[in-house]
Parts: sequence; structure tokens; C-alpha cells
Amino acid sequence: MSLQRTIKKEITCHSIGLHSGKKVGMIIKPANTDEGIIFVRRNENGGSRIKAHIGNVSDTTLATTIGNNGTSVSTIEHLMSAFRGMGVDNAIVELDAAEVPIMDGSALPFVKLLNEAGIKIQKKFRKWLVVKKPVTVTDGEGTVSIIPSPDFQITYKIDFDHPLIGEQSYHMFFSKDIYEQDICIARTFGFLKDVEYLQAKGLALGGSLQNAIVLNEEKIINKEGLRCPDEFVKHKVLDAIGDLSLIGMPILGHLIAYKSGHKLHNSLLQELLSHKDNWEIVRRYKNKRPVEGQSPFFHAPSPISAPLNA
Ligand SMILES: [Zn+2]
Repeated sequence: MSLQRTIKKEITCHSIGLHSGKKVGMIIKPANTDEGIIFVRRNENGGSRIKAHIGNVSDTTLATTIGNNGTSVSTIEHLMSAFRGMGVDNAIVELDAAEVPIMDGSALPFVKLLNEAGIKIQKKFRKWLVVKKPVTVTDGEGTVSIIPSPDFQITYKIDFDHPLIGEQSYHMFFSKDIYEQDICIARTFGFLKDVEYLQAKGLALGGSLQNAIVLNEEKIINKEGLRCPDEFVKHKVLDAIGDLSLIGMPILGHLIAYKSGHKLHNSLLQELLSHKDNWEIVRRYKNKRPVEGQSPFFHAPSPISAPLNA
């Protein structure tokens, strides 16, 4: 997994936008090494490009939105999660609307599309961001930390005052196989009273039982029920993988989150990157946990600017 990857061929899909409720067309195309994930809002002049990067995040209220020069793309997190989960570093995502299609509310349809396109290994090593010092941010009861670790690990805990959710926790040593089997299938969820409130305000107009798990006071409204008993916490892990990928490269560190969400994930990355001694960028040449006394890393040969400037 040390070489960069893109997709083998262009793929197209259509679905509705969660917030607009309108149809969105999306084309994902292969990209060159070191391009990263680039969103293009198509218009009569061709389109405006926005790099999927923490420096371009413009809103994290209901979903993760990126923007620059007056153009924005929202609800990018499930697609970004699928790219990172499946190890795709470089791709161009063309959209004819201001949001990524919501599909079924999980990342599974995107994973299927990426598998259908095929993954192409490119001839350049990846950069990795290695966490050197623990960093924590909090907001009310919510807290999220990232601590040094030779692997990308996630420990996530949620606690909702609802009889069907309550406390759930999940831990993973990140791998493509676990992501594909267990994480990408987890759908987003919401409470009926919140959905009604948002729709009255003209938001979440595309939200339905086809693209979210919806709960009322005591039960799940969706007839099909849950895809797995811990689907709620797994969806939070799916979101975290997408949000962390906005650093522009894989991370080696252990994310520990409690009652967190897009806003806190974003604040954590800002805090992590704000001090140069919190992190280091390396190129990994072996996909092995370090053997005692040996470093699995060598330093990137040329000076690399802070990821915030990427
Ligand atoms: Zn989500």
C-alpha cells in the first residue's frame, strides 16, 4: 500500500443531493500522482476546481463542505471516506451540482463504483503524516484526540439518550479489508424530529428512508432495520475516515473519539497541523509494523511544505 493509487477508468453515477433534494450527476476520473482528490463543479466555462483539503473546508455544520473563490461542494465525507478506505489517493470528481450525491447514506455504493472502475497502482510513493505528539480538542461533552501510533487506528465511542442506540464503541486497526467488509456499509442516521425541523427550514430536502436510518422516540422507522447491530458507531468511524483524509495523505496515528462529529474532527486536524512539532511527513517504503530498533520510514528527500499550504 505504499505506492499511490488512482482508478483505472472513468465512472459515472446519479443520485439525489441530501440537502437540495435535486438530482446530481457525478463522474469520477483517474488523476496523476500527487494530484490528490480534486472536485470540479461543472459550469458553462468548464468548471471550478476545489482540492479536497483541510485548508478548503468552509463549513462542518451538517456535513463537510469545501469551497474556494465562491464555489463550494458539500457532503463530501462519505465519498472521501470511500477513497481513503479503498486506498485511492488521486481522482477527479466532476459534479453538476453543489453537493455529492447521497446514494444510500453509506459509502457502499461508492466502494462498488471504485471496484467497478478498478484500482491502478501508480509509480510514486505516498506521503504519510506521522503524528508525533498527542493532540486533543473538546467541545462540550465531545472530545477527540490523536496520539502517536505506528498504525492508523480508530477508537470511537458514541452515547445517545435513545433506547436503540445508547452507548456503542468500536475499535479498528485500519485496513482496506475491514473497511470494505464492516465500515463502508454503515448508513448515516437521524431522528425524525430533527429531520422534520430541518425540512421545515428547507434543509435535508432529499433526506428519506432510502438514504438514512431514521429513528422516532422508541424505534427505527426503516422497515429493513439495521445492517449490523453497531451500524451507528460504525457510521461515525466512516465519517471520521473521510474527515481525516482531508489532510491530503494517510495518517499514522490513533484517533480516539467520544461524542464527536465533523466539526470536532475538523478542529482536531487544525490543531494538529498548527504546531510543526506535532507531526512529520515521511514516505513509507514497507507496509509493516516497525521492528524494534529499525525505522520503517525514510524521510522524504525534498523539503515539504506544511500540509496547510497544499
Ligand atoms: Zn456521515
